Amino acid sequence: MAIYRLENISFADVDKLDRENTIVILPCGSMEQHGPHLPNGMDTQVAVKVIEAAMKNVEKDVDCLYIPPIPIGQSPEHMDFPGTITFTAETYIRMLKEISCSVARHGFKKMYIVNGHGGNISAIGAAAFDIRDSCKLQIYMFNVWAVIVGLANQHTNREASNKTDAHGGEIETSLMLHLTPENVKMDRSIDEKNEKLAAGEYVQLGGPISFNWNSLEDIAPSGISGVASLGTAEKGAAIFDALVDLCTKGLFEIAAKW
Ligand SMILES: [Zn+2]
Repeated sequence: MAIYRLENISFADVDKLDRENTIVILPCGSMEQHGPHLPNGMDTQVAVKVIEAAMKNVEKDVDCLYIPPIPIGQSPEHMDFPGTITFTAETYIRMLKEISCSVARHGFKKMYIVNGHGGNISAIGAAAFDIRDSCKLQIYMFNVWAVIVGLANQHTNREASNKTDAHGGEIETSLMLHLTPENVKMDRSIDEKNEKLAAGEYVQLGGPISFNWNSLEDIAPSGISGVASLGTAEKGAAIFDALVDLCTKGLFEIAAKW
């Protein structure tokens, strides 16, 4: 069993893989602002580092075929900030379908998407239903932002409120202080607790009534929604380890039971 990197091997090598059981891995991220102190590519970097660590954990037992990450996602909410690049939902869904159906055309049955950007979740889910129907590939999705708040609450002495720590705040600052501290400029970090989010009773991020948002106008005029100064490398390490653990368990279960 091994990790195969698609860009480094030939078609002859791909041809030899056990295509019924090999898990095709696709990291998805974004190129979007995360406040003045964090790098634009952090969602991609988180997805890549989580899945690389998870693949190492399963290397002896599971074959993985790693496709290079998609470094741009659906990020219209951040387009008021220079450097953000976005696909529309239509483009993103179409691209996922075309990548997936290429993979399925060559006989693979299972693809594991590890997605670091919350804004991609809806599009990936929408694409996955169509992909299952049209080209029979099963898509498994590990969405970092579907689990990260719970993991941070469980594994760290997190202080920020779930309501306001949404983007570039305690969680994301911690992660990057752990993963690439050289790219974090804490002297530029801002603490911003959005009043509307803090006061929301039913309409909340992750609450019973959801909403779509524009970063500048709705929740994060500074680019940050949260208290970035609460971020520490120690919390980041705990959150990262918990993400890797969950991602690893997912790989083992897909390999063994699906
Ligand atoms: Zn992010």
